[in-house]
Amino acid sequence: MADAIIIGGGLGGLHAAHLLQERGLGYHLLEGSDRLGGRILSEQVDVAGGAPAGAYDLGPAWYWPTFQARMPALVAALGLRAFPQDVAGALVWEETPDSRTRFEGGAPSDGSMRVDGGLGAIVDGVAAGLDGGRVHLGTRVVAMRPAGDGVEVDAVDRAGTTSTHRAPRVITALPLRLLAHSIRLEPDPGPGVLAAWSGVPTWMAGQAKVVAVYDTPFWREDGLSGEARSRVGPLVEIHDATAPGGLPALTGFVGWPADARRQVGDQLMGAVVDQLSRLFGPRASTPVAVLHKDWATDPLVATGDDAAPLKTHPHYGGHPLPGGPWEGRLLLAGTEAAPGSGGYMEGALEASELAVGGMRKN
Ligand SMILES: Cc1cc2nc3c(=O)[nH]c(=O)nc-3n(C[C@H](O)[C@H](O)[C@H](O)COP(=O)(O)OP(=O)(O)OC[C@H]3O[C@@H](n4cnc5c(N)ncnc54)[C@H](O)[C@@H]3O)c2cc1C
Repeated sequence: MADAIIIGGGLGGLHAAHLLQERGLGYHLLEGSDRLGGRILSEQVDVAGGAPAGAYDLGPAWYWPTFQARMPALVAALGLRAFPQDVAGALVWEETPDSRTRFEGGAPSDGSMRVDGGLGAIVDGVAAGLDGGRVHLGTRVVAMRPAGDGVEVDAVDRAGTTSTHRAPRVITALPLRLLAHSIRLEPDPGPGVLAAWSGVPTWMAGQAKVVAVYDTPFWREDGLSGEARSRVGPLVEIHDATAPGGLPALTGFVGWPADARRQVGDQLMGAVVDQLSRLFGPRASTPVAVLHKDWATDPLVATGDDAAPLKTHPHYGGHPLPGGPWEGRLLLAGTEAAPGSGGYMEGALEASELAVGGMRKN
C-alpha cells in the first residue's frame, strides 16, 4: 500500500509526488485527464513541411523571481533556461474601436520571467523524475471515504470502470471549489466545510487565452513591443509570446466573459484576428496558426461558479480544514490552498510543501 494517494497531476500534485519520493515514501498519483500539467499547458506548433515552430503557453506564462523563491529554484534545478518577458518598444492602447494611442515609453517590465520550451517544460521535467508506474492518467476520482486507518478512493477510468485505491492519507492537489463540486466525501468533512471550499474561486478558471503565431515579428519592425491593452476586446491584455528558436507570436487574454464567448462560438477567433490587425497593422491578419484554450469549459479545472470573471486576486488560505474522521487523513494542496502565494504556480509548490510537511513512513 502507498503512503499517500495524490489527486491531481498539475504542478502541485507533481511536486507533492516529488517530495514524497525524495523522502522514500510511496504514492499513487491519480490524474483525471490524459495529460499532466493541469492549468499549465504549452502547445507545440508545427508549420507545414517545417521543423516545430515552438511551444506556446495557453495557461500560465510567467513567474516572478522578485517575490517568488520556489519557482526560480525549480527552474534552476531542472536545468531549464529562463528569460525575461520582452517589453521593449511601444505599447498600443485601444480605447474605442476607432481610437488607438501609441505609447512610446511602452510597458514597464514587472520582472516576469518565461521559460524556454514553455512552462510545460517544468511539468515534463518534474514528471521525468517520478516513477512512471505510480502516475495514473485518465483516472478521475469521484468519491472517497475514511476506512480502517486510512482512506478509500474511488476513481473512474476512460472506459468508465471504477477502481478503489487505499492509503493512510490522501493529498488533494486540485482547486478547492472543484474538490467540493466533483468528489463525494462520505461523510462530510465538517459543518459548512464543503460550502466554504465551494466559495474559494479557482484562479483564472473563467479565463480564455489565445496565441497567434506569425512568420515575422512585424510589430517589432514597427517599433512596437507587442504589448497592448484594450477596452474593446475581445482581447484586453496582449503580450509578445515569441518562442526562443521558434516563430514570433502574440498572446492575449480574452476579456469577454465565459457566457459571451459561448454565444459567439467559432466567431471569436475571427474577432481576435480582426482586433490584432487594428492594433498591429494588416500583417496581423494572416497568422500561420491560432491557438486557443477556454479554461471555463474544462471540467477538470472550472465549475459553473467560475464563469464570472474575477476582478481582483482573491486572498487564499483562509479555508477550513477537514475535521472529524478526515483529520490527518485528508491533506489539502493545490494553489488555492496556499496561504502565501495562492493562485500562482508558486502557490502550487507552497501548498504541496505544507501538505507533505511532517509526513513520515507509517
Ligand atoms: C490562463 C491562465 C494564466 C495563468 N497565468 C499564470 C502566470 O502567468 N503565473 C502563475 O504563477 N500562475 C498563472 N496561472 C495560475 C497557474 O496556472 C496555477 O496556479 C497552477 O498551474 C495551479 O496548479 P495546481 O496543481 O494547484 O492546479 P491545477 O493545475 O489545476 O491541477 C489540478 C489537476 O487536477 C486534475 N483533476 C481535477 N479533478 C480531478 C479528479 N476528480 N480526479 C483526478 N484528477 C483531477 C486536473 O486535471 C489537473 O491536472 C494561470 C492560469 C491560467 C488558467
